[in-house]
Amino acid sequence: MNYFGISTTSAMAPRNSIAEFQELVRSSNRMMALCGAGLSAASGLPTFRGAGGLWRNHEPTDLATPEAFAADPSLVWLFYAWRRHMALKAKPNRGHFALAELAKRKENFICLTQNVDGLSPRAGHPESKLYLLHGSILDNKCFNQCGYIDRNNLSDPICPALAPAAEDYPPDQTLPLLDPNIPAPQIQVEDLPHCPRCKTGLLRPGVVWFNEPLDENMIMQVENWIWQGPVDLMIVVGTAAAVYPAAAYTRKAQRRGAIVAVINPDPDSASGLGPKDFFFQGDAAEILPLLFEPVIGKMDESGKICVEP
Ligand code: NAD
Ligand code: ZN
Repeated sequence: MNYFGISTTSAMAPRNSIAEFQELVRSSNRMMALCGAGLSAASGLPTFRGAGGLWRNHEPTDLATPEAFAADPSLVWLFYAWRRHMALKAKPNRGHFALAELAKRKENFICLTQNVDGLSPRAGHPESKLYLLHGSILDNKCFNQCGYIDRNNLSDPICPALAPAAEDYPPDQTLPLLDPNIPAPQIQVEDLPHCPRCKTGLLRPGVVWFNEPLDENMIMQVENWIWQGPVDLMIVVGTAAAVYPAAAYTRKAQRRGAIVAVINPDPDSASGLGPKDFFFQGDAAEILPLLFEPVIGKMDESGKICVEP
């Protein structure tokens, strides 16, 4: 499948000239980005389909469903408590900082991210221009849908029973939780976090799971933005673009005239791009600061702008 899920073939390869892209980003007005797990790979957070692979013999995508939570909330919570711990320990990388700077300096740039790890907000990405399509792993909401939501909860572990998922181990040792040969800790459902409002529901991670709809209000805002005028540039960063509806935004931007630029180490992510589009093969944390340099200036290794444009 190509990057936006339709099968087109082009005899002509996309462009890969950094200078040409830099000129385009400098002169573009309305720009959009769609980010995926690859943006956070350089921060040490595994992607779902990448080298990270299985989690205790489970496909991560099988654990990220309401059905999985209903069947075994303790297992799903252990998975999320571990991912929360990883996300809280990780630091935003130069890719997150580059997108945040671009948003500060280009008025008409919106960024849609499928990531739930909180790293774009922590990089200072202006909130009003950042759409967390799949929610945040730091939010908790009621599984009974009473409407309760606890935002940006930084407790780690989230409750005492989930402590085995939030332990730090030296790099040469494996966290026992991650070893499928060691039985998973048995956690009683009553020891999982419960909803303080309705008192009956379990709390669940505030992310959008497979088989769940995206936030309607957010979709409306993004749709409104797209239809307000032509889109000059669509930047697709670190996503296999296999998850809908997020993946469809590239197609929508193209219908509004956008040139597409894909940043991804996987050459398959460039299929479907035409000769006006761009493909930059590699790590987003390295490539994005360079691509945006004429607008954001030179970025140092820590993600700070050291030379203004
Ligand atoms: P994915 O795991 O399906 O694909 C990741 C993509 O990133 C691949 O195309 C891969 O080639 C690319 N990639 C790997 N390293 C990269 C790098 N250094 N720089 C640039 N690209 C790189 O992820 P997805 O498409 O985002 O979708 C999976 C779903 O899983 C999403 O819904 C997302 O919410 C969720 N998820 C989120 C996180 C996170 O928040 N960090 C992590 C894993 C999965
Ligand atoms: Zn509730």
